[in-house]
Amino acid sequence: MRARISLLLLILILSCSRGKFVKRTYLAMGTVVNITVPASSPDVADSAFLAIHLVDSLMNPISPLSDLNRINRDSGHWVRVSHYTVLCLKRALEIAELTEGAFDPTVGRVVHLFHFDRAPDFRMPPEDSIRIAREYVDFRKIQIRGDSVRIGRGQQITLAAIAKGFAIDLACEKLDSLDVSSYIVEAGGDLRVRMPRGAKIGIKSPRGEGLFGVLKLKDGAACTSGDYERFFYYRGKRYSHIFDPRTGMPVEGELSVTVIGPDATTVDALSTALFVLGSGRGLKLLERLENYEALFIERDGVSMSPGFRKYLEEVF
Ligand code: ADP
Ligand code: MG
Repeated sequence: MRARISLLLLILILSCSRGKFVKRTYLAMGTVVNITVPASSPDVADSAFLAIHLVDSLMNPISPLSDLNRINRDSGHWVRVSHYTVLCLKRALEIAELTEGAFDPTVGRVVHLFHFDRAPDFRMPPEDSIRIAREYVDFRKIQIRGDSVRIGRGQQITLAAIAKGFAIDLACEKLDSLDVSSYIVEAGGDLRVRMPRGAKIGIKSPRGEGLFGVLKLKDGAACTSGDYERFFYYRGKRYSHIFDPRTGMPVEGELSVTVIGPDATTVDALSTALFVLGSGRGLKLLERLENYEALFIERDGVSMSPGFRKYLEEVF
C-alpha cells in the first residue's frame, strides 16, 4: 500500500490554545495517521493507534494473513474471523442495503481487475473480463454466522471504503474509555473529532492546490471520497478508484464528496456510496438519513444537504 501524503481533508488550526495538545504521527492502512490528544497525557495516542493497527492487520488487502484475504482465498467456505471483522462487515452490509448497492464490498473482484488496491500500475482490463467480474458483485451473497463469514464462490470483498472509518471509530472508543475529553483521530484525511471548542478543518479543492472551504466540527466524523488522489487516464479520460457496482466501471465525472456524521464508519462508507450516486440521487438518499450531511463538489457545480451548511465556516 502506498502512503498518501496529500490529504483530502486538512486539519488547519485547533481553536484551542496552542501547546495544550500534542500530535503523534504513525503509518497504517496505507496512509498517514495523526492522533491529537491533550499534552498532559500524550501516551494515550499510542493506545488509540493500537486500535487502528489492529484493524489494519485484520482488513488490509496485502497481508495473506489478514481476515480479508483469508475470506477471499476461501470464497464459498466458512472462515472464522475476528469479532471486529464481523462488526465491520455487518455495518458494510447495512450500508450496502441502505444505498441499494452503490456501496458494495463484493466489488473487490472488479477493483482487483483494475489493479486498484494491489499495485500502482492501474490499467483498463478487457471488456469481457469486466463483465465476468461484475457477475460476482452481490453483497446479498455474504453470510455471517457468529464469528464466521462465507462469501459466494469466486466473490472477492474489499473493505477499503469502510475500514479506515471503522479503525478511526475504534481508536476514538479507546480514547473515550480512557476518559480523554478532547482529541482528533485522522487517517489519510478522514477523521473524527471531539473538541468541545471546535476544530477547524480545511476541505481541499478537488482540482488545484487551494482550499474549497473550512469546516468546524466539535463532535463527529468527516470523510471525503475524491477522484483526485488515486486515478488513471485511459484514452484521454480520467477514471477514479471508486466503482459503480452495477456497471463494474470506475465512476467518471464526480470530483469529491465530503460527508459529516456522528461515526466515521458510516461516514466513510457513505462518502464512497454518494460518490457513486452523484448529487442527484445522493441528496435524495440523505433526506432519509438523520445526522448525516454531505457536500458534493462536481464538475458542473457545488451542492449540499441542507444541514451541511451549519458546519461550513468559510467558503473560498
Ligand atoms: P479512499 O481511498 O480515499 O479511502 P474510499 O473510502 O472511497 O476512498 O474507498 C475507495 C476504495 O473502496 C477503493 O480503492 C476500492 O477498494 C473500494 N471501492 C471502490 N468502489 C466501491 C464501492 N462502490 N463500494 C465499496 N467499495 C468500493
Ligand atoms: Mg470511503
